[in-house]
Amino acid sequence: MTETPARALTIAGSDSGGGAGLQADLRTFFANGVHGMSAVTAVTVQNSVGVSDVAEIPPSVVAAQIRAVATDIGVDAAKTGMLATTEIIMAIVAACDETGIGASGATPLVVDPVAASMHGDQLLRDEALDAYRTELLPRATLVTPNLDEVRLLVGIDVTDGEQQRAAAKELHALGARWVLVKGGHMHHDPDCTDLLFDGTEFTELTGPRFDTKHTHGGGDTLAASITAALAKGASVPDAVAHGKRFVARSVEASYPLGAGVGPVSPLWVLDD
Ligand code: PLP
Repeated sequence: MTETPARALTIAGSDSGGGAGLQADLRTFFANGVHGMSAVTAVTVQNSVGVSDVAEIPPSVVAAQIRAVATDIGVDAAKTGMLATTEIIMAIVAACDETGIGASGATPLVVDPVAASMHGDQLLRDEALDAYRTELLPRATLVTPNLDEVRLLVGIDVTDGEQQRAAAKELHALGARWVLVKGGHMHHDPDCTDLLFDGTEFTELTGPRFDTKHTHGGGDTLAASITAALAKGASVPDAVAHGKRFVARSVEASYPLGAGVGPVSPLWVLDD
């Protein structure tokens, strides 16, 4: 027998192709030496070319999964991914408030505001954006939007560093304690520059841009590796710096799969 590792929970959708969603989160938790748990929000019928169907899990069942693991096993950090509907978001918020998950409780919560797949398949109903703004962001220890999600949440079309800072300020004003505006979609930037903001100070995190189309699950892997570091007790800036390094190596280790887009991969940890 060994000591119980840190425990991390993902509240997310299933990707049947195994590239993104809770499958990416759980393998990232494992690769970071953390015990992974899941509260499934939706089942996507998905492969390397896209999502062909979605079945949403009843909100009460999503909330019950969170309560079941939090009250017995315990949660050192949690993250959200695909949440699909307002009703599911409201059930998650109630369960997290009850179990101390989120900025007002003891357990850090990373909110990855997943809205669509890279193929453009919708993973969140339009009207659910309001629940992100008014319910989830005020409870977020950290929110990690890409530039498409920034446009949906605060209406800013980021094309340069100045707009990236303006967007971070607006997202912080919505209540997130820390904001990480990911710059990966600014394709004219030869690097990949993300911006971290705590309401006072901006920190730029620059990483390499790899020439690959196989980046499915990249956002999930970044947020999950940040969550794993938080579960192990890291500060938010240290966890984000770790996540940035972890996802860069996972993009470098991505592989082709099926006829479409392959996943980023944490399998590199096995050779390290
Ligand atoms: N499918 C599920 C269930 C997801 O949670 C996500 C992202 O979080 C995706 C697909 C989309 O991943 P990508 O944008 O890398 O295609």
